[in-house]
Amino acid sequence: MGLLRLVYDERHRLHRDPGDRHPEGVWRVERALEELRESPAWSHVDTVGAPEPDYGAVLLAHDPEYVEWIRVECSRGFHYVDADTYVNEHTCDVAASFAAASRDAALASAETGTPWFVMARPGGHHAGRRGPAMGAPTLGFCVFDYASVAARVLADRGYRVAVLDFDAHHGNGTQEILWEDYRVLHLDAHQRWLYPGTGSVEDVGGPGAEGTKINVPLYPGSGDGHYAWFLLEVVERARTVFRPDVFVVFAGFDAHRDDGLTQLEATERAYALFGSYLGRLLESGELRGVVSILGGGYGRGMARSFRSYVEGLLGLAEEPRVVPVSPGRFVEQGVGRALELLSSTVRSRYPPRV
Ligand SMILES: [Zn+2]
Repeated sequence: MGLLRLVYDERHRLHRDPGDRHPEGVWRVERALEELRESPAWSHVDTVGAPEPDYGAVLLAHDPEYVEWIRVECSRGFHYVDADTYVNEHTCDVAASFAAASRDAALASAETGTPWFVMARPGGHHAGRRGPAMGAPTLGFCVFDYASVAARVLADRGYRVAVLDFDAHHGNGTQEILWEDYRVLHLDAHQRWLYPGTGSVEDVGGPGAEGTKINVPLYPGSGDGHYAWFLLEVVERARTVFRPDVFVVFAGFDAHRDDGLTQLEATERAYALFGSYLGRLLESGELRGVVSILGGGYGRGMARSFRSYVEGLLGLAEEPRVVPVSPGRFVEQGVGRALELLSSTVRSRYPPRV
């Protein structure tokens, strides 16, 4: 039985809405941790703190102008920087600490084969290089994009990286930051028409990186079957083409049916499926590392979903049988085109050695 290294650090509590009205509250990480303590997985979990804030890690993903701007905003104390996103005097340092944790966890996982999970707050995947990404009106509760930080440091060390984002919202920040980076495969399933409105199946990556970004928009009410399809027909097929060494997972649990912000109607089984899949690849040596970073999850289902994912990752739960359900011809065809482009990008970027 393997071990999971879990980055939990009380400093996340410093990022808070004094009125406790914002959905991205302190309780989320605390409740998730309580739930994990009740699981048989807990005896396989080793918790570690986060490193000190490191803006060098942040700069792997963001432009210095944005970092300077948001630090000035943080220094002004609690207020909203846009209609969705609050900061206070601690927020930037808290986020820079989890950015450093994501960087270090990614490298440690790749070097040792141990899975890592970073209990990060505030959110990450909506923060683009220079702030709100791809025309989004806000930062969507996010300050720094931890997944891009982890992906970039791994790619810079020569690893092939896959970012798997199963958060119910599209990772527009991650997509923008990694758009032209052929070294990183970005696989993102999300609820269509939901904030931030991006993530079309026709978005496949910038020049030289075509096919390395694959988006799967799902209809409200989709449920576990669509996630099983995403895993089998998209993630697994893209993996066999791209052959990543490491998965960086933006693990948002807000597609759960008990979540108040989304309508995807998934259950814990979908998250157990993702966890089991990754755990199996790690165990068999097909992957060198898996680092997961906490994303969304704003309702009662979040903690149970987190627990199911971790139990799956550690091989402690039976892999649920879920019948895959296609999200429709249009998405199927779009994914097919993206996979063809991915094949040709891989052939030209990583020619076989003779
Ligand atoms: Zn989300």
